[in-house]
Amino acid sequence: MKKYDFIIIGAGISGCSLAYFLNKNSKNILLLEKNSDVAFGASGAAGAFLSPLLGIENKFKSLVTTSLKFSIDFYKNNFPNLLNNCGTIRIPKNSIDEEKFQSYMPFMDFDFEEKERGYFFPIGSTVKPYEICKALSNDIEKVFDYEVKNIEQIDGYWKINDDLLASKLFLCTGANISLVKESYFDIRAVWGQKIDILSSTKLEFNYHKECSLSKSVEQAGKQKISIGATHNRFSEDMSDTSYNLNLKNINLLSHNGKSLKIIEEDIEKLLNKAKDIKKLEDIEVIDIKIGARASSIDYFPMVGSLVDSKSSFFKYPHIKNGTHIKNENLELIPNLFTLNGVGGRGFVLAPYLANVLVESIINGKKMPEEIENFRLFSRWAKKLNNRGKD
Ligand SMILES: Cc1cc2nc3c(=O)[nH]c(=O)nc-3n(C[C@H](O)[C@H](O)[C@H](O)COP(=O)(O)OP(=O)(O)OC[C@H]3O[C@@H](n4cnc5c(N)ncnc54)[C@H](O)[C@@H]3O)c2cc1C
Repeated sequence: MKKYDFIIIGAGISGCSLAYFLNKNSKNILLLEKNSDVAFGASGAAGAFLSPLLGIENKFKSLVTTSLKFSIDFYKNNFPNLLNNCGTIRIPKNSIDEEKFQSYMPFMDFDFEEKERGYFFPIGSTVKPYEICKALSNDIEKVFDYEVKNIEQIDGYWKINDDLLASKLFLCTGANISLVKESYFDIRAVWGQKIDILSSTKLEFNYHKECSLSKSVEQAGKQKISIGATHNRFSEDMSDTSYNLNLKNINLLSHNGKSLKIIEEDIEKLLNKAKDIKKLEDIEVIDIKIGARASSIDYFPMVGSLVDSKSSFFKYPHIKNGTHIKNENLELIPNLFTLNGVGGRGFVLAPYLANVLVESIINGKKMPEEIENFRLFSRWAKKLNNRGKD
């Protein structure tokens, strides 16, 4: 069985960013992907807009600000041709939104000025999602069309599908978390759609109101514009549709009637929202992509080691009675790490988080607590305790 220092499962922006930073420490890395290429999951559906989060000070906004600064510099320095730093005009949705915007003024982390009917942020950018994932993983050995069905620990290694061994294993599987057998590690799939159109209308900047419009790029004598994105949470069983995480290459499938109905409705929603931003002439929809964002319960990413809940309960039975155990004393699943839960901002968060995770594993640097998986375990254990009291 072939052995690797690091195996990464999932070749979206999370797995590819991680591969890039791990590659600085080892050349013995393998990236595994169920689909036929990189960026064929959520990462292939994204408009890949990079834009500031506005609001009052809070930990999530700080995380987005830090990540946005890091990621823009990272893309600019390493892949300048794949970044379009044209700026974004944010247009308030209504008068209440405008008031909110005014109240956020003291907390703005980035320069801006009034423009058109909104506020222009020069930092606003897009990246080319497929090309960036490809470039990040350029030097990395990859196997496509390879679904990991089983992982198990054996003699200090992680064994993958009885085929491969890894000293350290990284799960970057997005909305599909079936490989993690821990109940506290919970992801919500928020499906979405992005469309590309051709129009005769030229856009000089990105725009954001109830949807995002990209700066236009000339194509076949017309202007190509990306419009993203919709948000669909399905509570019913969608296994007979394309909105099914177990499928491969979702955007290459011919969709059935039930899926097409949702897709058509989403096209209409996106075009209506887009027209509310700019009058777009002679529209022709030329591409449609769907994908599932992976959102954590508290919207923060899910990064680092996983707590072994069974061994931790065995070692500290009082956790179940509400006793708090320090993170460093909990039992961990050895040599298993996640980079997940990047929600609707993967292209902003992933490069920053990948660097933070690699620095923590290789150089022992402390990660910010709010992104670590420990918080999920603690919250879940507390809930178990409360339920016990009912
Ligand atoms: C319509 C839409 C628009 C969006 N717009 C933006 C935007 O403008 N800006 C932004 O920053 N973000 C945007 N996002 C969010 C962004 O796309 C995600 O945050 C990001 O792509 C998540 O990356 P990921 O690598 O974590 O997951 P994914 O890209 O989903 O990658 C996970 C990969 O793991 C693979 N995998 C899973 N299980 C297995 C297994 N068992 N074996 C092998 N492979 C496996 C999957 O096939 C998949 O390729 C958007 C998302 C959508 C859906």
